[in-house]
Amino acid sequence: MTKVAVNYPGKGTFERGIHPPEMKQWAEDKSISVLPTPKELYIPLLQHVGAPAKLLVAPKEQVVYGQVIAEAGGFISAPIHSPVAGVVGRGANITLANGRHVPMVPVVTASDSVGAADGIYEDMLGGEWPLSLLDDFSPEEIVDKIKQAGIVGQGGAAFPTFVKVLKNKDKPVDALVINGCECEPYLTADHRVMLEAPQAVIAGTLLAAKASGAKAIYIAVESNKMDAVEALRPYAQGTAVTLAVVETRYPMGGEKQTVRAVTGRTIPTGGLPLDVGVVVMNVSTTWAVARAVLRGKPLTHRVITVTGRGIAEPKNVLAPVGVPLQELIDFCGGLKADTARIIAGGPMMGFTVGNLKTPVTKGTSGITVMTLDDVHEEETTHCVRCGRCVDVCPLNLIPTKMALAAKNKDWELAKKYHIGACMECGCCAYSCPANIPLVQLIRMGKVQMLKK
Ligand code: SF4
Ligand code: SF4
Repeated sequence: MTKVAVNYPGKGTFERGIHPPEMKQWAEDKSISVLPTPKELYIPLLQHVGAPAKLLVAPKEQVVYGQVIAEAGGFISAPIHSPVAGVVGRGANITLANGRHVPMVPVVTASDSVGAADGIYEDMLGGEWPLSLLDDFSPEEIVDKIKQAGIVGQGGAAFPTFVKVLKNKDKPVDALVINGCECEPYLTADHRVMLEAPQAVIAGTLLAAKASGAKAIYIAVESNKMDAVEALRPYAQGTAVTLAVVETRYPMGGEKQTVRAVTGRTIPTGGLPLDVGVVVMNVSTTWAVARAVLRGKPLTHRVITVTGRGIAEPKNVLAPVGVPLQELIDFCGGLKADTARIIAGGPMMGFTVGNLKTPVTKGTSGITVMTLDDVHEEETTHCVRCGRCVDVCPLNLIPTKMALAAKNKDWELAKKYHIGACMECGCCAYSCPANIPLVQLIRMGKVQMLKK
């Protein structure tokens, strides 16, 4: 393999964290395949951080592929477009994988829908993404196209992307870090996007840099994906993009960790990358940005990894937003007999799902199917005060104290220990010899505090 020159101010790593088994072998070599036309989609009106989108269509109304079916419901919000041509059904509430109950509109797909399956790979990921066209767009036009396309972060947090790249007079940005780390075990969707659409990734990166005003531009990739670095390199050459190869360590993909590893800057507790002059964006989001600006297409589909020992044929699947998880599982040969747990996302930060009607959203990066062998549950015992959870916390928090405060509903104490800053990465629970469900307790505590 060709050695890649790297040149960036961080040291390519961060303090603490863990090295869980990567488990990428199930899907990393599987080229992106296209999901056949789903019969019906359940499209949630809240797929992002912020206000729900406001529905613009009525039951029985016909919609076309790419049509806006819901408009942004506030400044921090994103419009939603129909991924298929079809007929709108009656709205209802639906529970997302993260447990939130949100309004949803069903769309029954027309048999000849353009946005269904045929040719969609070429339209979405294929073809040329000429970098020469980037000069045609002003920063304001790029921001507007990102906004109109309903793009939100595809790494899981689903923050509206136009807000991220909008120039902020009070907090100027000088660096853009594109997160291609995909540190979560099992997941390989971002990896495949870098391999299969590297020119789109570079184009989207340069467009986001132009919009935000960032002059230093990095794409961070973990050292276990050198083939992705090689794929990106020819398109990055001659541009301002630096490919930053970082250590394979969990949670390298957390924005605080990526920024630290690449720029050497430390985001303060409770702060944002913007506080240190950085915008961070997931690598699959850059593809969506390139598509919105260069091809005028909204975010209607995404790449999802369906993987794990419990699925018959692990795959990376290009699928429309709103498709029920069951259809993705069927497309991948179904569940094996010893399936024990289905997780939306990866095992460290994902959510266990019990209902396979749960739809894919713009932030769904994968489905991990685990078997009885994978999840063998061990008994929880008392804290032995070993301090391992503290030693591994990448945010330098005290997980055991936060979890105890949450368990005892002592919200003042929980706040004192910065429970709100916890990124729920799961390093603490993973390392705890007493099997204390530290993240679950912290997560529950955070939800209960919000309700107060
Ligand atoms: S306390 Fe939060 S941030 Fe720290 S290791 Fe646990 S889950 Fe991760
Ligand atoms: S790792 Fe577990 S047993 Fe050790 S101090 Fe933390 S909570 Fe206690």
